[in-house]
Amino acid sequence: MKIHLDLDCFFVSCERLLYPDLRNRPVAVGGRGDPFIFDTGTRAVQTTANNEGAFVPSVFYNAKTDFSAYFVEQGRIRGIVMTSSYEARAYGVKTGMSVREALGLCPRLIVRAPNHLFYHERSHALKEWLQTRIPVLEQYSIDEFFGDLSGWVADKDVPRFCQTLKQEIEKELGLPVSIGSAPSKWIAKLATSAAKPGRGEGVKVLFRHEVDNFVNPLPIEAFPGIGRGFSRRLKAYKIETLGELKQARHLLYRWKKPGIQLYHRVNGDDNEPVIPKRDRRSIGISRTVDPLYDRAQIRRRLTVLCRHLAHLVQNLGVTPQTLYLGIKYQFGQKRARHVTEPFLFSEKALRQRVLALFEKLDIYKNLAVIRLGISCGHFAKRPAVPADLFAYEEEKKAQKLWRQMALLQKKYGIDTIRTAAEFL
Ligand SMILES: [Mg+2]
Repeated sequence: MKIHLDLDCFFVSCERLLYPDLRNRPVAVGGRGDPFIFDTGTRAVQTTANNEGAFVPSVFYNAKTDFSAYFVEQGRIRGIVMTSSYEARAYGVKTGMSVREALGLCPRLIVRAPNHLFYHERSHALKEWLQTRIPVLEQYSIDEFFGDLSGWVADKDVPRFCQTLKQEIEKELGLPVSIGSAPSKWIAKLATSAAKPGRGEGVKVLFRHEVDNFVNPLPIEAFPGIGRGFSRRLKAYKIETLGELKQARHLLYRWKKPGIQLYHRVNGDDNEPVIPKRDRRSIGISRTVDPLYDRAQIRRRLTVLCRHLAHLVQNLGVTPQTLYLGIKYQFGQKRARHVTEPFLFSEKALRQRVLALFEKLDIYKNLAVIRLGISCGHFAKRPAVPADLFAYEEEKKAQKLWRQMALLQKKYGIDTIRTAAEFL
């Protein structure tokens, strides 16, 4: 299954992290093109390479100004609403509306100038966190992500996975989010809109047999990518619902690529992949465990984490050269270490190194362990050639085996193949 995540009124939620007083109140974040571009003073221009994807500017400057300095020009209120809270939407406030009009509809509306750098920073933090939960992740915009769960979460477990993910995002990052899931990307995005506050429960999962009943009665405008132009053209042919659009294969095929693409997206047979960006520098996984004294059990858990991390590495298609292990003990003691050396990556090579690191690091043998974390980084452009030729041959064999296992895991699920050490 694919999933789609969309943060709820993201800019407003970020403002609420900074100013908790804004909770439960009608709030909007407004923007202006670049009102100070012609100012003679030096502007604090900031850039970020943190986020990629559509609608994500990488250069902007932070307007740390109050309402009148930012929105009022020669006695007139300027600017448009970029995002508004659900309390404001109840008054009819909408994205794209002028700030003046929004204030007319809701005089109590609190309008904030945007703090883009902070929004980017939060978006990046969420992305980093999501990468530890979802092996194939695509950032679609500053507040939207696609993920591919196939081979990672069994279909029947997807509703619970999404619920947990939503709760964790709200707990870890303080950001409310809606999540949709379906067999294809764009139907998953469509499902998210039915999960939004006021319309749904925060999570909407559509299994294959439920897709048609859900999609068919919806108005065409509900589908991602059907804007005013497309909907006008479709309506000229009396196509009002997505079910009717699915009957109009010949018509849409006449409209060439955009029509054909839309036809298959609505039918859910577009087969468009979730495309991870490979610009990351590291990948890791960590878990809190109930206080654990038994070292064999700890090694077993590390073995499980290694299997998952190897799966993430396989999905990213990267060649890590650095390994990291972090251990947290019951009374706050911590041990952590990196090792960097050229080696051929495989699940086995990872496991051997992590377990060896654990033997070295675990000096508080009579304390319980409460958290384990491993990660890989320093991705090489080319596969490494280890100095030790004997080790090289061994690692080459292990890598070949791992690649075959990884294919099976991708097809049948990450739990299909495990080492005996996991069954202590
Ligand atoms: Mg959003």
